[in-house]
Amino acid sequence: MTDIAQALQRVKQRIENAASEANRQPQDIKLLAVSKTKPASDVQQAYDAGQRAFGENYLQDALPKIAALPLPDIEWHFIGRVQSNKTRDIAKHFAWVHGIDKLKHAQRLSQQRDPQQAPLNCCIQVNLSDETSKGGVTPAELPDLAAAITVLPHLKLRGLMTMPDPNSDKQTLLQVFTQLRELRNSMREKNIPMDTLSMGMSGDLEHAVASGSTLVRIGTDIFGARPKANPALIS
Ligand SMILES: *Cc1c(COP(=O)(O)O)cnc(C)c1O
Repeated sequence: MTDIAQALQRVKQRIENAASEANRQPQDIKLLAVSKTKPASDVQQAYDAGQRAFGENYLQDALPKIAALPLPDIEWHFIGRVQSNKTRDIAKHFAWVHGIDKLKHAQRLSQQRDPQQAPLNCCIQVNLSDETSKGGVTPAELPDLAAAITVLPHLKLRGLMTMPDPNSDKQTLLQVFTQLRELRNSMREKNIPMDTLSMGMSGDLEHAVASGSTLVRIGTDIFGARPKANPALIS
């Protein structure tokens, strides 16, 4: 077995353990393998081990990989910052977008999505860490954005995403994740259906699953440590 296949198995075991602790079914938690900055050969290895959903942050890094790996059932998720000049490529090449925080971007993605393709699945990013530099809407801004997205013809609103400050302690992480779940519940009460809570990364997967996560985004613990983000790729 390759290192990546073994790491993938360990992560799945962690999801199973966390689910069992929380009296949840492991199949209710989707594993997104975050392959940002990693070569196509790493994605291929994970694919060969049965993984199908992959997350990418940087468009310039992702597009050549997507082109190099036209594999059956492979599913690409854009988890980086959405910017207007990227929406066309995102709409064309991805199945999911996790970081929507502006109606303008959602409208562009819907306009630019080929109607022959399935609707683009999207999550609204909510900022629950009070960090002004980070993306995401405030809880107060969420209902209007969610309602506006549900009427866009080529998007499908799936749920909410959050990314706590990585230096948070356990109690803060649990608070943030619980808050996201409660926001999702309050959207459902407003008849805005949502089936996805995109929360949990390598370091906080267990807390996220305990708090109701339905999709964990795991990079480091599958593919190994990454070099520091290359600013040339982010712009
Ligand atoms: C990089 C990244 C991840 C994965 O983080 P790890 O700590 O490597 O598991 C998850 N979500 C987003 C939005 C990311 O940018």
